Amino acid sequence: MSEAARKFVIGTVLFLLAGTAIGWLYDRPAAGLLAAALIALLWQIRQLLSFDRALRTGDFDDFRQGEGIWEQIFSRFRYENEKSARRKHSYRQLLREVRKSTNAMPDGAVILNVENEIIACNRAAKHLAGLKRKKDRGQRVDNILRDPELTRLVHSDDQSLTVEMASPVKDGDWLNCRVVPYGADQKLLLIRDITERMRLSKMRRDFVANASHELRSPLTVIAGYLDSLADDAEMPPGWRKPVEQMQGQARRMRHILGELLELSRLESAGKAQTDEPVDVGGLFEEARSAFEGHADIASIVVDVQSTAQLRGNAAEIETVVVNLLSNAVRFTPQDGRITLRWRLDADGAELSVADTGEGIDPQHLPRLTERFFRVDKGRSRDNGGTGLGLAIVKHVLARYDAELIISSELGEGSEFRCRFPVDCVIVAPPVALS
Ligand code: ADP
Repeated sequence: MSEAARKFVIGTVLFLLAGTAIGWLYDRPAAGLLAAALIALLWQIRQLLSFDRALRTGDFDDFRQGEGIWEQIFSRFRYENEKSARRKHSYRQLLREVRKSTNAMPDGAVILNVENEIIACNRAAKHLAGLKRKKDRGQRVDNILRDPELTRLVHSDDQSLTVEMASPVKDGDWLNCRVVPYGADQKLLLIRDITERMRLSKMRRDFVANASHELRSPLTVIAGYLDSLADDAEMPPGWRKPVEQMQGQARRMRHILGELLELSRLESAGKAQTDEPVDVGGLFEEARSAFEGHADIASIVVDVQSTAQLRGNAAEIETVVVNLLSNAVRFTPQDGRITLRWRLDADGAELSVADTGEGIDPQHLPRLTERFFRVDKGRSRDNGGTGLGLAIVKHVLARYDAELIISSELGEGSEFRCRFPVDCVIVAPPVALS
């Protein structure tokens, strides 16, 4: 018990005893006690009313009038009240600073709850995505920003996923979005303006496509003259070899230009729209028979474990198979083995090409799908490689949200696995009625 509380109890008891003693002097001790208790009660009621008034008006100066334990309660309460007011003031100031700094951010930031409902957003989110701070609060972000890519992003658990979407506010502008989880169940949707980056990448794409296209016509003329020269029976014998070499280089250039044009097309094509059923087993057989005619190549085994078909564009899937198989053929010795495999699992389907060839040093694996990247430039060139095959494979797969997984070891062989998501797979292909 505190000193004040002890004083309060002793004071009250003494006061009641004094009242009883005075009553006893007049032969009425009970009346004396009652009168003292009434006075003590009235005094307490007065203090209570003054406390209540101070709470309502917020004027705690009246507390000073309190006495004994009340004085202590009043001053304690006043102290706590002032402390909380000071704390509130500093929180308000901090909040103002946080709001000012998030509003100064060039990127949009939207706080979402577990249901993807908007809790708050900064000024950039308003400019970039057209979000309205008060009106959109509590709304689901994918109901306001209606883009399938954004819907995929906010429902995905993959924290490294970023998506690009057209600006809902300004035609021709592009936004990059990603989600960063924080706290218990909240996440931050970050929106960045990537219009300039997209413009530069389109310029680069257009340049490559235009340059390839422009180079094709003069090359066709040169190749035509070379073919005529090669067919000319009167050509001096000393010219035959250089002309054949020039023919070979012209063919090679045509091949590179064709692949560059294909890459540009794939890059600007976006997501695959075609829904035709693709018989992967059939593509394997066709590719195998095309290669098997060649001498000195490894044996090719087709292992089709599922009758499921792929939903897509047959020509594009064929490009994937042919590129992977031609690499396997070029990098596997004659006594080696190449396996083309098609199988289904719970997460989708897998098309893979494995070989027992020379393999790739793991340090090169991350760069393998870059354009013109070759482990051994000279050798790849000599055996007909352009350095664009795997880049094309990667871009085709991106159109199906599929992934290319490469595993290889020097001297042990390589495996290229193309993993297609479930929605690209037709599990039970239609059966012909006849
Ligand atoms: P290229 O036309 O040179 O084959 P790619 O993009 O298809 O270009 O392949 C890039 C490089 O990856 C190749 O130059 C080669 O070094 C390596 N590579 C690809 N496939 C294989 C394979 N099956 N075995 C060994 N190395 C491979």
